[in-house]
Amino acid sequence: MEIIIANNSGLCYGVKRALRIAKETINKKNKKVFTLGDLIHNPQVIADLEKRGISSIENLNDIKEGTVIIRSHGVSPDIYMMLAKKNIEIVDATCPIVKKIQKLVEDLAEAKDEIIIVGNKEHPEIKGLIGYSKGKGIIIENEQQAKSFPPKKERAILAQSTQDLYLFEKVVAVLIERTEELKVYNTICQFTQTRQKSTSDLAFHVDTLFIIGGKNSSNTRKLYQISKRILPNTYFIETAAQITPEMLKRAKKIGLSGGASTPPEAIQEAVDKIKTSFKHLFQREKIVQCQS
Ligand code: SF4
Repeated sequence: MEIIIANNSGLCYGVKRALRIAKETINKKNKKVFTLGDLIHNPQVIADLEKRGISSIENLNDIKEGTVIIRSHGVSPDIYMMLAKKNIEIVDATCPIVKKIQKLVEDLAEAKDEIIIVGNKEHPEIKGLIGYSKGKGIIIENEQQAKSFPPKKERAILAQSTQDLYLFEKVVAVLIERTEELKVYNTICQFTQTRQKSTSDLAFHVDTLFIIGGKNSSNTRKLYQISKRILPNTYFIETAAQITPEMLKRAKKIGLSGGASTPPEAIQEAVDKIKTSFKHLFQREKIVQCQS
C-alpha cells in the first residue's frame, strides 16, 4: 500500500495568518476576543480557540464590547462601520489576497455597471465582495445561470478566491458569447489553484482518494467535486474516524488531500488510521510518501 498526500494540502497562507493573528491577539488582550463567524471551517480548531478564550459569534448584536477579529474571508464595508459605531476594537485578519480582490471590485464599481462574481452566494468572502460593488455586483454560481444573461456591451467578471477554475472557465466561455467586451480577472488564488491541480493529478494516480475537511468548507467541497469527476472512489471525510474498511477495499494506492482550513493534524490522523487500522487488508509493506 502506498499513501500519497497531495502537494499543498491543508491550511493556506491566509488561514494560517488569521490563526496566528488570533493567537497573538488573545495573548495581548485582557478583554473578550471574538471572531465574526468561525475563523476556519474546522470544528476541532474552533474548539481549541474557544478554550483559549476566542469565541465565535454570528451576529454583532450579540456583543457590546471587546475585540473582534475579522477572519481571512474579509467582510463588507458596512461591517467595519457597524463595529466603529459600537466602539468595538477591530483586528483585521482579512487575507491580503482577498483584500486585493475587494479593492478590484471597488475600482471596477467606479468604471463598470455590471460586475459578475463567480462564487457561492452564501460564502462570507462573496458577501464581503458584494459589499464593495456599490450595487453593481451579480453573483453567478453555475454555468446554467450564466446562460440566462442577456447580451450586453460591457461586463467584468472575477471569481471567489477558492473557486473551481474549471467552473470559472465555463462561466467565462458562456458570457464571452453574450458580451461585446468582457474583462476577465482570474482572482482564484495561487494557493487554491495549486491545491486543485495537485489533487486532480493525484486522482489520476490513486485507487481511492480522501478529501479531508469540514463539511461546511466550500473550498474543501470543491476539491471533492474536482476529484470525484476523475475518480469515483473519492470520499469527503471530516475526521479519520470516518474511514471504513469498505472504502479501502482493493485500494493499493491511497491519496489524501485537504482544503484551505484542514489542519495538518487531521491529515496525519488519516495517515495513521489507514496504516494501523487496516494493516490486515494489505499484503505488502506500508509506505507513506508525502509530496511536499
Ligand atoms: S484561499 Fe487564498 S485568498 Fe483565500 S484565504 Fe487562503 S490564501 Fe487567502
